[in-house]
Amino acid sequence: MSVGRLRRFAPGVRASLVGVALVPVAGVALVSADLIADASRQADRADAITGTTTALNDAIRLESEITVESYAANAYASVAERGIPVEVVAQLTELDLEAQFGEATARVDQLLDAADFDDTERLLARARGLVRPDGGDSESIGAAYGSVGDSVGEHVHRGLRTLDLLAAGASDAEELTRGLRALELADHLREDVAAMTESFFRVRFVDGPGRRLHAARLLRDGARYEQHLAELGVLIDSDEELAQRWERISADPAVSAFFDRVDELTDSLVATGADGATPEGGGTEVDIASETQGFLDSLRTITLHAELADAAASEVSAAAEQMRADANASKRQTTTLAVAMGAAALIAAAVASWWIIRPLRRMGESVGRLRQGHLDRVREAGPNEVRDVARALNEAVDHLTLAQGQAMALAEADLDSPVLAQEAPGRLGESLQRAVGALARSLAEREEFRQRLAHEAAHDGLTGLSNRSSTMAHLSQSLARVRRTHHDLAVLFIDIDGFKSVNDQHGHAAGDRVLRTMATRISESIRHGDQLGRLGGDEFVVIAEPVSGLHDALALAERILETTSVPIQVGQTELVPSVSIGVAIAGDGDLTPDEILRDADLAVYKAKSAGRARIEVCDEGLKTELAHRLQVERSLRQGIDNDELELVFQPIADRNALAVAAEALVRWRRNPEALQRPADFIPVAERTDLIIDVDRWVLARAAEQMSAWASEPELATLPVAVNLSARHLGARTLVADVLGPLESNGIDPSRLIVEITESALLDDFERAGRALAELRRHGVQVAIDDFGTGYTSLSHLRLLPVDVLKIDRSFIHNLDNADDRSLVRLIIETGHLLGMTITAEGVETPRQARELCALGADRLQGYVVGRPLPATEVSAAVRRLAQMRMAASKVEATSTTSG
Ligand code: C2E
Ligand code: CA
Ligand code: CA
Repeated sequence: MSVGRLRRFAPGVRASLVGVALVPVAGVALVSADLIADASRQADRADAITGTTTALNDAIRLESEITVESYAANAYASVAERGIPVEVVAQLTELDLEAQFGEATARVDQLLDAADFDDTERLLARARGLVRPDGGDSESIGAAYGSVGDSVGEHVHRGLRTLDLLAAGASDAEELTRGLRALELADHLREDVAAMTESFFRVRFVDGPGRRLHAARLLRDGARYEQHLAELGVLIDSDEELAQRWERISADPAVSAFFDRVDELTDSLVATGADGATPEGGGTEVDIASETQGFLDSLRTITLHAELADAAASEVSAAAEQMRADANASKRQTTTLAVAMGAAALIAAAVASWWIIRPLRRMGESVGRLRQGHLDRVREAGPNEVRDVARALNEAVDHLTLAQGQAMALAEADLDSPVLAQEAPGRLGESLQRAVGALARSLAEREEFRQRLAHEAAHDGLTGLSNRSSTMAHLSQSLARVRRTHHDLAVLFIDIDGFKSVNDQHGHAAGDRVLRTMATRISESIRHGDQLGRLGGDEFVVIAEPVSGLHDALALAERILETTSVPIQVGQTELVPSVSIGVAIAGDGDLTPDEILRDADLAVYKAKSAGRARIEVCDEGLKTELAHRLQVERSLRQGIDNDELELVFQPIADRNALAVAAEALVRWRRNPEALQRPADFIPVAERTDLIIDVDRWVLARAAEQMSAWASEPELATLPVAVNLSARHLGARTLVADVLGPLESNGIDPSRLIVEITESALLDDFERAGRALAELRRHGVQVAIDDFGTGYTSLSHLRLLPVDVLKIDRSFIHNLDNADDRSLVRLIIETGHLLGMTITAEGVETPRQARELCALGADRLQGYVVGRPLPATEVSAAVRRLAQMRMAASKVEATSTTSG
């Protein structure tokens, strides 16, 4: 069997403890079994002693009675031998020998019935057979009874030997031995008395040589008796019953008479010698009565001595009884002790196993739960070693609990949790602490990064204000609040006036400075709780909440207008900024953030178009305007598709009134009878990319028209000007949109002039410049429209890649004003210096035309030259112009000739 296999069969603690407990239990059981067996043996031995003693006592009594019977038989035989009839003897002596014998036999038989001496009975029957008038002589009867006595004596002897052996193995043999010795002595004393009786009567009644022998025997037996009596005396001292019995025997008159007689005879024998005559004269002279009494006394003495055995036997029996009781008691004690010890050992084993197993099992369960991830402490109970293990387990659980706590704290990103500062001991603790530290650091970094990202996502990098999305979120929250509380909310849309030019003229750093300064100033103007955000570019939004109506909102707007107008020093120059503010009020929560912002945007647009540094409120009028605009926008979109647009052409003349170009102007035949002017729909279209579609349509239509005019001599080479919107100028498709139609109609790009308003250029100066330069590279001419209305300084003009400068008609109408007049001259002179062709717009009167020509304008456009006309009427108009010119020159020539 392999070791592993052995290990699999390893017994449990309970089995082991029970096993350990079973060893002493088995030992106790073995020893107890031995002790019990021993006690049983002692009990058996006691039983055997009791049985044997009873039998021995019976045997001793039997022997005694047989002796008596034999003497009776002998006496009977002796009388018969002498020829004396028994009746005579009975009469003479009052001793009925026959009755004596009969009584003796009856007693013997009674004893024999109780005993089991078959041999003795046989011998006795033979001996008794001799006892009758014609039976055997005394000699043969004596011999026969002698063998009977020997047989019984043999039983007695065997009994004594058996008892000796039994006593030798007895546990407490002292009393037993004493009783046994008393029994033995009782037998000896009985034997001695019997022997003395025989010797006494032989010495008394037998003559001849045997007498001396019997005398010697008598003396010897007497001595023996004395010796045995002395021994008995020692025993009697310590035995009450024996003492009482002996008292009775020794006090019996028959016994003392017997011994007196024996003493008397012995004394005479000592005095006369054994050979001397019988005391009574040789047996001739006999006192029959006295002899008879002596005979009877002796028989009684024998019997009484035999009875001494009773006392001894009862003492032995008592000792045996005690022995048995002791044995039984010890058997009981041993059994009780063994059972008690076995039970105690098993209980001890059970208790010990419970004491050990319970905590072990709890620990096992705890480890089981641990495996499933439950961190339970276990109670520290049981033996020291188990407690140590439990403590170690608990420490491990504590460490894991700490690790769990730290993991949870990390998972919840609770970096301030005190659990993170706790340290577990050892290498595990060290690595845990390092892991916790590393994780905590990286979490902290992540959190910081996240917060930074969140801030960056919600804030504008330049000004630190909320950005567009975050502002929209604020707006959404504020509107939700308004819905609940029903207070007013104001949105202020703030747009910096002319910010583009700050960027263009002073650089982006200056632009950034202006933006940051404005942000600071606005945020200082608003109330605590109001929100300021930057939507992008130069657009700011204030969400003021709550406000008590428009009055409040306007007060705030005024404050902003004032604080933002303080001059800003940028490098060497001092800028005087201003803002336009659009105000929208939300009195209920029906508006979406986009809607209220659109309203504010609408208002700021209006503020801008109404002149700068102004505050406009988005009121019902504005909203109506918006609705109208939306309507126009939709119709125009359809109008383009439905070909409702038309082009008219306005001639442009040179100083000699010759048509040198025609400007294409769009018209919208919105319905058959109403032709709409650009002012009604171009501004609407300009708010969206719809204007680009309009421009494209015009470019295509103009190119077609130029191609169509190829057959008309006056118009075949006439350049055509088209207007391009600021939005289109910023579109990536600009160059393709412009060149495409020219190419497809086979028109030389140099015949096309694109007109860009000054303000469109200023929106994004660099980009516009790049786009125009590109067009010019392809041969397209570029004109600046409405010049003078924007803020372009004259020194800036040289940077513009343009061919034509069109002076806005507002200057032309005011030519009588000296300032305007000198400004127009300045523009013309500067333009010429930069190699530009100067066109004057809106020239309505011949006087204006003459003055402009005087001021140096190269070209004139206006009603005086010609009104915008349908394409079909352009050639006629051009011709008329030429005829007018010819007529005029004739007049001139005539006047010159005449003058
Ligand atoms: P603009 O480019 O300055 O066009 C000249 C405008 O001045 C035209 O108005 C024309 O009818 C008007 N006009 C011409 N001579 C005189 C005059 O002697 N006195 C006065 N008071 N006005 C005169 P119109 O056609 O109503 O166009 C208005 C504006 O609409 C144009 O101003 C131009 O900026 C824009 N526009 C017209 N057509 C287009 C187009 O196809 N595309 C784009 N983007 N804009 C266009
Ligand atoms: Ca124009
Ligand atoms: Ca113009």
